[in-house]
Amino acid sequence: MDFETEEVSCPICGRSGSNPLHREGSFQMVKCASCQFIFLNPRPTVESLHSFYQQYLPEGESSIESWEKMMKPVFDRAANLLKHFREEGRLLDVGSGFGFFLAEMKDRGWEAVGVEISRKAMDYARNILGLTIHPGPMEDAGFPDNHFDAVTGFYVIEHLSHPMAFLKECHRILKPGGLLLLRYPHTTPIKSLLSLLRIRNRLYDLPAHLSDFSPGIIQQCLERTGFEQCQHMIGGHTLPNGFGKRAASSLFGNLSEVIFHLSLKKFLFPGVSKNILAFKRVAE
Ligand SMILES: [Zn+2]
Repeated sequence: MDFETEEVSCPICGRSGSNPLHREGSFQMVKCASCQFIFLNPRPTVESLHSFYQQYLPEGESSIESWEKMMKPVFDRAANLLKHFREEGRLLDVGSGFGFFLAEMKDRGWEAVGVEISRKAMDYARNILGLTIHPGPMEDAGFPDNHFDAVTGFYVIEHLSHPMAFLKECHRILKPGGLLLLRYPHTTPIKSLLSLLRIRNRLYDLPAHLSDFSPGIIQQCLERTGFEQCQHMIGGHTLPNGFGKRAASSLFGNLSEVIFHLSLKKFLFPGVSKNILAFKRVAE
């Protein structure tokens, strides 16, 4: 697919100086000279990404089933984590895809709604799973202030052109004390290692991923938006189709989990996907 692209300044601090970091095909990730954020530049325009996402998720019954199996361990872990804080309440899943996480939360007694930009995925969630899904982006859904007990976003923030605006919107629609759970890939450390070894790869998934958050930067962004009590965790691992990918995901997922716990929740293994949990500050 051909993309219309544009040069952008840093999506986090807004400054324009950056240095090239890694290339993948015709796309390049750069590092902001001011805040060290890693992002795609130039990147596809919002309009060309919108049409791209109509084809992004898999199609066909068996591919959708494989997708469900791949995400299930991560969704189960997240559902159990939420239960630790609340038995039920009002939940929004942003980028809800086919709706498997929402279906799980609805089964557990939550009032669960989604936002999804892919029309095919939204139709599946509505028609096959009977869920309430708003067409994305979330800013267009017009949710009231202080409305949700929990907002979740699995593998969403790295796809967004305006991640700070997204965090502000999550903050606005959450009730004080409400929780935000985000899952994001953290690819740069492994990318740098493979590049030292001269092993070619497409781990950044460009141009779908517009940025690569580190645990430190994502926490700073959340705190700047008005969230507190940030907690990092590995949050399990996906089970992709295909022996090699599945073995790698299990190996690194389990290894990172063990190391995280042995280090008393201090060491976050670089290069694997992670969760961050944060709470909207309750006004004094
Ligand atoms: Zn910056």
